[in-house]
Amino acid sequence: MGIVSQPKLLVVDLEATCWEDKNDTSKVMEIIEIGAVLADSKTLEIMSEFQSFVNPILNPILSDYCLNLTTIKQEEVDSAEMFPSVLARLLDFCGETNDVTLASWGDYDRKQLILDCARFGVQYPFGADHLNIKELFTERKGSKKCGMKKALRILGIPLEGMHHRGLDDARNIFKILAILLNQPESIG
Ligand code: AMP
Ligand code: MG
Repeated sequence: MGIVSQPKLLVVDLEATCWEDKNDTSKVMEIIEIGAVLADSKTLEIMSEFQSFVNPILNPILSDYCLNLTTIKQEEVDSAEMFPSVLARLLDFCGETNDVTLASWGDYDRKQLILDCARFGVQYPFGADHLNIKELFTERKGSKKCGMKKALRILGIPLEGMHHRGLDDARNIFKILAILLNQPESIG
């Protein structure tokens, strides 16, 4: 079996509420954007893409820090649906989750999805199967853990679109994964 065990691969990248002071534990992050690329695990052909803003309930007003980091506008989250409805659309988009391997850069996105599901009392829809592309990159390249931007630089591929935006990040992360999976070590 290959690294991606299911026939479909869903690369997800979330944006969330954030603040300058990362040590302030009174601030709870919530998803404000979901970006995703759905691909055929064997051919690595992109089947479709998903982007949606999410209306956060705990801290509905985005901090200036968050607005600047993500370029997401206050109006975009104000007019967005709340997490359960957006998750339902994401699930409609990817179909049966039994045949999907969830993949993301690091473990943050998986954990944040679990947290937001718990907050709204909805079941986490993906199985235990998760591909941590950052870990795979570190193993393959023998490099230290790094951000997506640095990984793109190491691979010599341009960062396309806007960093810290869900769909653009998901597309760039998918490109990193496609390179790693196309290398000979991946066969088998
Ligand atoms: P990313 O996918 O790298 O754009 O990060 C996902 C989320 O993590 C962002 O929407 C922020 O909530 C948070 N985050 C990422 N980078 C930073 C940073 N430098 N400072 C504070 N929060 C960050
Ligand atoms: Mg992102």
